[in-house]
Amino acid sequence: MRYAETGYNLEIDLTRGNIERVATDPKLTELHLGGLGTNAKILWDRVPPEVEPFSSDNLLIFGTGLLTGTPAPGANRTIISTISPQTNLMAYSMMGGFFAPELKHAGYDKVIFRGKSPKLVYIWINNDKVEIRDASHLRGKGTVETAELIKQELNEPNAQVAAIGLAGENRVYTASIEQGRSSSSRLGVGAVMGDKVVKAIVVRGTKDINLAQPAEFIGLCNDVLQYIKVRADNPVPGVMTILQGLGSPQEMLHVDEAWHTQNFMWGNARVRRKDFWNKEIEERWKSVQLDVRKRLISCYNCPMKCGAIITVPGISTYMMKCFSKLTYTMAAFVDDLDFGFKIAQRATEYGVDGFSTPQIMAFAFELKEAGVLTDADFAGCPTDNEGKFYWLLDRIVRREGIGDVLANGVYWAARQIGKGAEAFDHNTIKKHEQLPLKLGMLNPVYFLMYATGEKINITQIEGQFPQSPFPTMEERQAFIKDWIQVPDEKFKQYLLDWELRGDHSNPFYPTVDMSVDIVDWQEKMHYIDDALGVCAGLSSFPLKPPYHIHNYPKIISAAAGIAMDEAKLTQIYNRNRNLIRAINARRGLTRADEKPPEDHWKKRFPELEEKLLDAYYKFKGWDNRGIPTKKSLQELDLAYVAEDLEPRGIIKNE
Ligand code: SF4
Repeated sequence: MRYAETGYNLEIDLTRGNIERVATDPKLTELHLGGLGTNAKILWDRVPPEVEPFSSDNLLIFGTGLLTGTPAPGANRTIISTISPQTNLMAYSMMGGFFAPELKHAGYDKVIFRGKSPKLVYIWINNDKVEIRDASHLRGKGTVETAELIKQELNEPNAQVAAIGLAGENRVYTASIEQGRSSSSRLGVGAVMGDKVVKAIVVRGTKDINLAQPAEFIGLCNDVLQYIKVRADNPVPGVMTILQGLGSPQEMLHVDEAWHTQNFMWGNARVRRKDFWNKEIEERWKSVQLDVRKRLISCYNCPMKCGAIITVPGISTYMMKCFSKLTYTMAAFVDDLDFGFKIAQRATEYGVDGFSTPQIMAFAFELKEAGVLTDADFAGCPTDNEGKFYWLLDRIVRREGIGDVLANGVYWAARQIGKGAEAFDHNTIKKHEQLPLKLGMLNPVYFLMYATGEKINITQIEGQFPQSPFPTMEERQAFIKDWIQVPDEKFKQYLLDWELRGDHSNPFYPTVDMSVDIVDWQEKMHYIDDALGVCAGLSSFPLKPPYHIHNYPKIISAAAGIAMDEAKLTQIYNRNRNLIRAINARRGLTRADEKPPEDHWKKRFPELEEKLLDAYYKFKGWDNRGIPTKKSLQELDLAYVAEDLEPRGIIKNE
């Protein structure tokens, strides 16, 4: 009997219209856990580096995590993996909500799409019955609208629907996959779904999930819930509001936006409005948010309530996720939060990434101001800031006029437009838009995360370790007192010795070796979460989370019946980390790609940055080009990866 997982994947060949239920190898669960880990294994095995993102040989994988759907709080992530049209590297983008638990209850760990459908379809998974159904009547419909129409059509109000909107249908590189409470937005996974001509996946599952040691597992889950209560009663003092508690990161609960609006950049990640936040704006924004926020809501089996149902008069109700209320507002230089709530509804229906898309639009208007784009490119565009953004969003998702080139994201659009537009592409890493954050002094830990993160997106790589030092020793002592999550006591000392100024401050402290240690801890927790399907908001993202390296092994053992300890779990993390690095190295990723945006920090230290990369690569068992060595791959049971990379000349003679 298989525990925690179902032991079956659903393989759907869209070209042939063939559906297969395929038993999986339990050995792979031991090696990779599930979720991101087994998704990566499938991409490595079945998508050679020559395969283009929009090839029918590219796969689109909807994976559940190993713990998804079990009673583990917050274990609800769907991990969507494919080759990204934006980066041409592996994309993995997660969504919460209810989709993955429903899929597990229907009896599947993953849905794997290959090929392309000859006409627009949706997939209906109802436990053992799986159908490919015509979706031509849904062409052009919004994501929320599509979900409602399908549920009515099937008379299944409890079905979970993951759908694309117009952006996905038109293969906009920033297209998302939307699912009620959540979405999978980064790196163009919605564009690949559109390329496969799949409008939606609908799932209803009513089966049980087996647990290896149910009583012990429930006890451990209760401990997690208990700790969540403890953290709710003990917010971390001395850090920004959104980092004081748990959650991901509770954007709809809090109304204090001083930190975001004054530290994040406005427009195309260039302008800081340091004195923007004041009492009058705080009151006005608070009133708007509380007015439209009908109810705070959670994902499957989570008490945190990070999302909210939004009702703005005159437009359809929708769910606001994460940070989108600010991204459009700030990119358009609109001082009314009201605009953010309105345009986010349209963007959700279109199905676009709320981080990248506003930046693409701000980039376009910057090009117009600079004369690189002309009035002719914007014929018919209103002149007011709000109207301009609605107009351009419509053009991008339809790929009309200038919207066609902008639909490929800032990096590609800059090169297609030419005439100096490349100089305005200043906030991408590996061809992908980053958070519009510009800071003063280089932070060595963040430098490494930005440069080397395989997720190619700083959000949800960070976590665990405070972002900046506490000013006083008393505060530091208080913080470390109940810091049970540290994998090693040395991290407490790192924090105690970290100062705001002087020898023990950024950029030379944390030291190179300490920075590598800290990044490794942060990455480890994210990779484990992404394999287990646990929301980062309860684990790898916040300070002092309920899940950590000390309780995870017991939780995994009790759920899945796999003998686990911290060393073995660390080995699995390293295996998954290296496998994804190998996929990207095989697709051409090099050290030259591993750099944050030029102006992310005002003060840069090229020599230190090279040392940081050298030390990080060495720690990982990679060569100085960032390629895993044959020896380290062999030690991680990835000898077959080395055997592939060596004849390609990617692993050099060591
Ligand atoms: S912490 Fe928030 S985003 Fe994460 S599972 Fe819970 S409600 Fe969803």
